[in-house]
Amino acid sequence: MTDHVMPNTTATPPTDRLPATDLDPDTATDSAATVGNEGAPEGAKDHTFPELSLKLKLVNLVAVVLPFIGFLAAFVLLWGVAFNWIYLGLLVAMYSITAVGITVGFHRLFTHRSFECPGWVRMLFGIFGSMAVQGPVIEWVADHRRHHQHSDVDGDPHSPHHHGDTVAGVIRGAFHSHVGWLFRGRPKNSVRYVRDLLEDPLVRFVNRHFVLWVALGLLIPAAIGGLVTMSWTGVLLGFLWGGLARVFLVHHVTWSINSVCHIWGTRDFRSHDESRNNVIFGVLAFGEGWHNNHHAFPTSARHGLRWWEIDLSYMLIRGMALVGLARNVRVPTAERQQSKRLQRDQNADS
Ligand SMILES: [Zn+2]
Ligand SMILES: [Zn+2]
Repeated sequence: MTDHVMPNTTATPPTDRLPATDLDPDTATDSAATVGNEGAPEGAKDHTFPELSLKLKLVNLVAVVLPFIGFLAAFVLLWGVAFNWIYLGLLVAMYSITAVGITVGFHRLFTHRSFECPGWVRMLFGIFGSMAVQGPVIEWVADHRRHHQHSDVDGDPHSPHHHGDTVAGVIRGAFHSHVGWLFRGRPKNSVRYVRDLLEDPLVRFVNRHFVLWVALGLLIPAAIGGLVTMSWTGVLLGFLWGGLARVFLVHHVTWSINSVCHIWGTRDFRSHDESRNNVIFGVLAFGEGWHNNHHAFPTSARHGLRWWEIDLSYMLIRGMALVGLARNVRVPTAERQQSKRLQRDQNADS
C-alpha cells in the first residue's frame, strides 16, 4: 500500500500541491487532466473569489450563529441544570457520528479517495457528513481540493497567512481561515475539481438532499430525547444538546484544522505550506489535527503516522477493512515517509 501520485497531470506541481483526488488511470477524467494545469487559461481565473449573494451570506450567518446560540443555551444556562446521561449520550453520539462523517467520509473518502468501500457505506458517510452542516458534499470537496492545490498561496480558500504580519493582520488571518472565508463566493471554475463526483449518481443524490440530512441530524436527537423522557422538554433538550450544541462543536473543531493547524504545531515533513501537526486537534478532530502529515501525504488514509499520533478515523477505517467494509486503504510506505523527512532535513541544512 502506497500513497499514489495522481496520474495525467502536467507534471509540474509537487505531489502535495495536487488536489489529491488520486484518480486511478482507468477512471481518470477531465478533473484529473485539468487540475494540474496551473498555467492554463482556465487556471488564470482560479484565484477570483466573487462576492457572495446577500441571501447566501445570511444563510451562512444563520448556520454559523444559530448553533453558537444553541451551544450557549446548552452549556451556559443548562449545564448542571437540565443535563444528564441521556443528553450527554446524545451529544457524544451525534458528535462522533457527524465528525466521522466529515473526517472519514467527506475528507478521506470523497475528497482524497484514500480507501474504497461499498455503496451503502459511502451513502451513510455522505449523509453523516451532511448532518455536520458544513455544506453539501460536492462543494465541501471542491473547496478542500482547491485548498490542497493552493495551500497557503494565492488561491487558497482559507489560508490564515495573507493578511500581513502585524498583530491585527494575524488576528484577521486567523478569523478568515476559521469562519471568514465562508462569507466569500466560490470561484466559477470550481467544477473542475469535482467532475468525478458530479458523475457519481450516489454522490449527486446525497448532495441534492443536503437540507433533508441537516434536518434529520437535528430532529433525530430531538425525537430520541422526547421518546426516552416522554416529554416535550426532552424534545427541546435533545434538539439543543444533540443538535445545535453538537453542530457548534463539530463546526469549530473542523474549522480549527483550517485555522489552528496552519498556524500552531510542529512540522515533521516537507510540505509546500504552513500546515502543522497539533496534538489537541489530533485528538478532538479524530486524527485530522496531524495536518502536516496530511499535507505531506494527502492520499493517505492514515494521518497520525507515528504510533503515538492518535488517529481515531484511521482506526475506524482499519476496523472497517478488517470486516471487509474498506479496501485499497492507502498508507505511505516507511521509505516514502523517510524520504520526505530527509528532504526536509536537507532543506533545513542548506
Ligand atoms: Zn490544510
Ligand atoms: Zn485534505
